[in-house]
Amino acid sequence: MIDLHGSYAQVRCLACEKRLSRFTLHERLSAANPGFEERAHGVTGLEVAPDADAVVADTGDFVVVDCDRCGGMLKPDIVYFGEIVPRSRVDAAFELVDDADVLLVAGSSLTVQSGLRFVRRAVARGVPVAIVNRGPSRGDTHAAVKVDAGASEILSALAER
Ligand SMILES: [Zn+2]
Repeated sequence: MIDLHGSYAQVRCLACEKRLSRFTLHERLSAANPGFEERAHGVTGLEVAPDADAVVADTGDFVVVDCDRCGGMLKPDIVYFGEIVPRSRVDAAFELVDDADVLLVAGSSLTVQSGLRFVRRAVARGVPVAIVNRGPSRGDTHAAVKVDAGASEILSALAER
């Protein structure tokens, strides 16, 4: 499996590209901010913002940790809107498409080019495309099979066969 847009399980340094697990970052942040977790858990109505950040009012003294190798800024290893998927990751996904018997798109409207390009690649290589998605997708005209339904239901049903 290729996490095309990355994963919150990993954090990377923006300067030297060192990667570490979120667990390791959590341990470092906890060590740098003794008592913070207890305070955060003690806040009633702790909410999570749409960007998955916790909304905690008392964060003025929070100590952010940097890369332990170079001091660079750390960031979730996620490709955010406006960023570019690393070329090596795209190439690895293209290789999977090239070797596939079929490309199954599940639960995506393919609104962004980063997903649609794999449909176009498959079509160009003669790999049939199947799409399972509620509502239309940008790949529908290329699909040999289109199922207008929820991906969870359809994939679960296929797995039971
Ligand atoms: Zn670094």
